[in-house]
Amino acid sequence: MEQPIAVTRQSFDDWMVPVYAPADFILVRGEGSQVWDQQGKSYIDFAGGIAVNALGHAHPVVTAALVEQAGKLWHLGNGYTNEPVLRLAKLLIDATFADKVFFCNSGAEANEAALKLARKRALDKGNSSKNQIVAFNNAFHGRTLFTVSAGGQPKYSKDFAPLPGGITHTPFNDLAAAAEVINDHTCAVIVEPIQGEGGVLPADPAFLQGLRELCDRHDAVLIFDEVQTGMGRTGELYAYTQYGVVPDVLTTAKALGCGFPIGAMLTTDELAKTLGVGTHGTTYGGNPLATAVAGAVFSIINTPEVLEGVKQRHQWFLDGLNKINQQYPIFSEIRGGGLLIGCQLTQDYAGKAKQITQLANEEGVIALIAGPDVVRFTPSLIIPEQDVKEGLARFARAVARICS
Ligand SMILES: *Cc1c(COP(=O)(O)O)cnc(C)c1O
Repeated sequence: MEQPIAVTRQSFDDWMVPVYAPADFILVRGEGSQVWDQQGKSYIDFAGGIAVNALGHAHPVVTAALVEQAGKLWHLGNGYTNEPVLRLAKLLIDATFADKVFFCNSGAEANEAALKLARKRALDKGNSSKNQIVAFNNAFHGRTLFTVSAGGQPKYSKDFAPLPGGITHTPFNDLAAAAEVINDHTCAVIVEPIQGEGGVLPADPAFLQGLRELCDRHDAVLIFDEVQTGMGRTGELYAYTQYGVVPDVLTTAKALGCGFPIGAMLTTDELAKTLGVGTHGTTYGGNPLATAVAGAVFSIINTPEVLEGVKQRHQWFLDGLNKINQQYPIFSEIRGGGLLIGCQLTQDYAGKAKQITQLANEEGVIALIAGPDVVRFTPSLIIPEQDVKEGLARFARAVARICS
């Protein structure tokens, strides 16, 4: 057999379109919440592939589901349905407000479907001027042109003008500002229950409740982007149940496949009718390989053991991070829900989140940022206590270094 091509971190700079700036090591293997690099150095994984690997790496049940399906049927195209996709749809419907599901391959695609549904629904009702979308500052909804425009971070969209029109942004958690722009021309409001990429900022319950009422009053579709908060991340299957506010459309991805690309848009019978045969679609959406994996993932995550365990692990993180912060006061706030935790840096350490995660890498732990001033943790939902302790000890050493 031919030798595999030798690759190093330098190969990335040589061969890859430079949209990312990955860490200066290459990971080659993972098991549970540990990963190892080319040199055999171990890291505790507190990032979980950006809130994706909710069951850690190489989970035996998920791996078995993948291998079993891989030997049967990978892909058919949507001219033919398949068993795993129908089973996954039923699991999602039985566990949520939804009656119908559309499958795709990513969070952005799920949001794209949701926004297209809302536009078409208003048009189908004969209201061609009901096409306005209300979204929020700092939001993140994906990188397609439509979803990046709905996102509230102009740095991600400004270079790609002209952008799709009809999207207005108001401050997150400011209900009065939202009420000023939501009217009968509004076809959709899209919001994250906890802004993830924007800094781990939870919505106030009254804000989401108020958006629900405004959408009802003006016949607008309320879309909850649960791409990051969904699939047990906050300690409930979906965060909307914690808020007691039911959306019309919910988007989910990330942890749904635990690393196998899949996304979904959940909605009601009434709204689902909008997207009739031929009006929307995607080649890979709902293919048997992806949905067999997600079905296994779902059956593990949607259990009291795992969901209760998230709440317990939240406390382990809070206790450990507060202890670190007592010794080295670098965080002004530790916030978030379940295992979506954001640590806001104090003024003195503003802008240093990236540097802290780089030092954390050196100490053998992987963490994330959410903007320049927030260190974010989104580990596996089943991370063992020992790994939480060891990872936080390593993280403490990184914090000690930034403080010295
Ligand atoms: C990650 C994320 C997306 C985009 O998902 P992709 O799979 O990267 O397209 C959308 N919305 C939220 C809230 C996210 O966290």
